Amino acid sequence: MPLTDKFGRAITDLRISVTDRCNYKCIYCRTGNEGALYGDLPFADYLRMARVLASLGIRKVRITGGEPLLRPGIADFIRELAQLRDVDGQPLDLALTTNGHLLAGLAQPLKDTGLGRVTVSMDAVDPDRFARITRVPGGYEKVLAGVRAARQAGLGPVKVNCVLMRGFNEDQIVPFGMFAREENVIVRFIEFMPLEEGRVWSPNTVVPLDEILQRMQEYRPLVEIPHAHSETARRYRFADGIGEIGIIAPVSHPFCGHCSRIRITCDGKIRTCLFSVWDHDLHELIERGASDAELADFIRSVVQKKEARHHIGEPDFVPASRTMVHIGG
Ligand code: SF4
Repeated sequence: MPLTDKFGRAITDLRISVTDRCNYKCIYCRTGNEGALYGDLPFADYLRMARVLASLGIRKVRITGGEPLLRPGIADFIRELAQLRDVDGQPLDLALTTNGHLLAGLAQPLKDTGLGRVTVSMDAVDPDRFARITRVPGGYEKVLAGVRAARQAGLGPVKVNCVLMRGFNEDQIVPFGMFAREENVIVRFIEFMPLEEGRVWSPNTVVPLDEILQRMQEYRPLVEIPHAHSETARRYRFADGIGEIGIIAPVSHPFCGHCSRIRITCDGKIRTCLFSVWDHDLHELIERGASDAELADFIRSVVQKKEARHHIGEPDFVPASRTMVHIGG
């Protein structure tokens, strides 16, 4: 029986954070001064966790951070992951999320080791605005080169994720539409979620799906593309056939009912939901010499505790016990 939670949702997508260190200080994420808190585990530990989870039904693995390309040896780790098989004996679908700063020089080697897809976090197509949001000067050109190198290497379709924050970058919606068409990448807009360090989130800072669509439709007509239930993004292509965008709207159009994800943090804890207040220590069992069967039993029991949904904006909303940089997207 594949990994299934008590709501009947099949858990097929794993996200592994390999570090909570990051070379950017984006204003909607690292608003405080926490920095890295949890430290990185040896890749062999993440590999063992992924192997056990693949035997339980995981088919997709996304590598995240902090910034995963900061870890030396990341290419070798991906090569090892590419040797794993899912329950049907098929290779796992391997993807990586990065801020793109180091991507230009790594795209081809990562592709050669078996990485299938890459998503680049990019919140402005204006270099000055980009520098103001990331608080790192000169990053824009590097990230643009990374996006192009990823496309060149065939790590596609290359997706570019833009977190919209009212008062900071909602005017980038149409320029990003143009960018998607010119650079032949899929741009996905993400509604700002309350997962940042300094707790600056409020409903007013969210640019909702309907507004994003309206602004983009004023630029060019869009046609909605049918999407799988477990996909987080609603997809749209431009009516003239050139370019595609997506909108990930966890606040205004939650998609928890079909959630297929669990996460492993950089210090080896399972998180059943982005907004969970619990960490489940898988790495401690490894440290105590547990067998693969014992790890599998623990994972199954944890999945039974997976939350039904998030409660963003509701009176009983309790902030997640970790901020995004310490969970991994
Ligand atoms: S908020 Fe939690 S339950 Fe909802 S989609 Fe995200 S991870 Fe899944």
